[in-house]
Amino acid sequence: GSVDLECDMLVLGAGPGGYSAAFRAADLGLKTVIVERYATLGGVCLNVGCIPSKALLHVAQVMDEAEHMAVAGIKFAKPEVDLDALRAHKDKVVGKLTAGLAGMAKGRKVEVVRGLGTFLDANHLEVELSSGSGQDKTGEKKVVRFKQCIIAAGSAAVHLPFIPKDPRIVDSTGALELRTSDGKAPAKMLVIGGGIIGLEMATVYSTLGTRVDVVEMLDALMQGPDRDAVKVWEKQNAQRFDNIMLKTKTVAVEAKDDGLWVTFEGEKAPQGPQRYDMILQAAGRSPNGKKIGADRAGVVVTDRGFIEVDAQMRTNVPHIFAIGDVNGNPMLAHKAVHEGHVAAEVAAGETQGKSELARSAFDATVIPSVAYTHPEVAWVGFTEEQAKKEGRKVETAKFPWAASGRAIANGADYGFTKLIFDAETHRIIGGAIVGPSAGDMIGEVCLAIEMGADAVDIGRTIHPHPTLGETIGLAGEVAHGSCTDIP
Ligand code: FAD
Repeated sequence: GSVDLECDMLVLGAGPGGYSAAFRAADLGLKTVIVERYATLGGVCLNVGCIPSKALLHVAQVMDEAEHMAVAGIKFAKPEVDLDALRAHKDKVVGKLTAGLAGMAKGRKVEVVRGLGTFLDANHLEVELSSGSGQDKTGEKKVVRFKQCIIAAGSAAVHLPFIPKDPRIVDSTGALELRTSDGKAPAKMLVIGGGIIGLEMATVYSTLGTRVDVVEMLDALMQGPDRDAVKVWEKQNAQRFDNIMLKTKTVAVEAKDDGLWVTFEGEKAPQGPQRYDMILQAAGRSPNGKKIGADRAGVVVTDRGFIEVDAQMRTNVPHIFAIGDVNGNPMLAHKAVHEGHVAAEVAAGETQGKSELARSAFDATVIPSVAYTHPEVAWVGFTEEQAKKEGRKVETAKFPWAASGRAIANGADYGFTKLIFDAETHRIIGGAIVGPSAGDMIGEVCLAIEMGADAVDIGRTIHPHPTLGETIGLAGEVAHGSCTDIP
């Protein structure tokens, strides 16, 4: 067929990985085209992920804090929630960001082709053009010829096969829509999956007045972080949820007029079907690798739909790269962004003979994770458990926030900051923080790991007093004191 558009670099998907890669490629002089099926740039993260969830979590936090102020002698009236206005607020936050991205694409002369892309071969992608706010097909097609390509097709929520289609059953995208028939949040909700996404949405809905149950197949909620940190989160949330069902399987869901009836299996599973008004499926996300005709380009896709890459983000086809959720875990926006930069730099270095760019590579040792729940849980690098499992000798230092003036003043004396050091070098290899703003603080621990800091470096860095961030320096001092062979 005929070619409608030619470019040096084609980026498939405009999520955090895709737009970061496209902008970097354009900045480095490559003629760049983005293919995106949706009307706005930003992918899952901006449209239906990180950003709208944080807009809602912020509102929930203000409501929770207002209630907590009673201990300081300040009483507010019970908040009235206007879900339509809240939805509009959230959409406005998202709109500002996606409009900003569109401007940035224009400023860099990155062409955006709107439609569903499928590979024809290793140098051509066919786009079924779409219009409107969703993926409405216009019936037209465009073929783009590219010299190099970055696949940034992302991931989608897993839908359990036995769960029927019903407007009351949603994934995270549906939950963020705050759908309501009577202007109120649902009375009783089941969250399937006790990972970060499920617990963040459970936090929002519980604050809005919904009674929430959480069901999880594994033996603990929040699998990633330090168990001590999760324990603090659990204690703070003991009142928030009705029933947390661990080691429990959801085996059947029946959508009836009078509610959604759910059957569970497991030692502590409730007997007989339980009734809910809403169900959130948050049992994981699956990569979009199988949906783009990758085989026609010769790109290998695993059974689960991932596209494997080397440290330079190259697939088995050297001029085709894959970044972000589609190339593997952890499925996080900041991972996608950094991988996008690497892929674009390698590609540009190759094309333009700039060897220093072509050597760019991704080192995944320090990818932080954050559960933006109340309180937040943030962690990076090794947990104590992982380090021990790998046979590494470690020293840990924990600074309890009960000894932090600011944490006490803020009503957050339950939190802690924990650092993990290599026992021989005393270099920091991991950290965990639980408490308000933990996510904003963990970046310092990432930097310390990246810079090869040891306990003395951290402890002797002057932190502002009184702040929650000070607890990182204080944990460094705790470690410093316990590492007796340090001068
Ligand atoms: P995506 O953002 O998934 O973007 C892929 C894009 O490709 C999409 O826009 C899609 O439409 C497009 N696309 C796919 N196939 C085609 C095709 N064939 N043709 C055209 N276009 C195509 N991560 C964090 O780091 N922090 C958070 O706080 C956080 N919160 C989250 C909350 C929720 C509710 C969810 C669901 C996710 C959250 N994540 C968070 C994860 C984060 O959203 C993802 O890791 C991130 O969006 C991945 O970026 P990406 O560029 O790989 O892909």
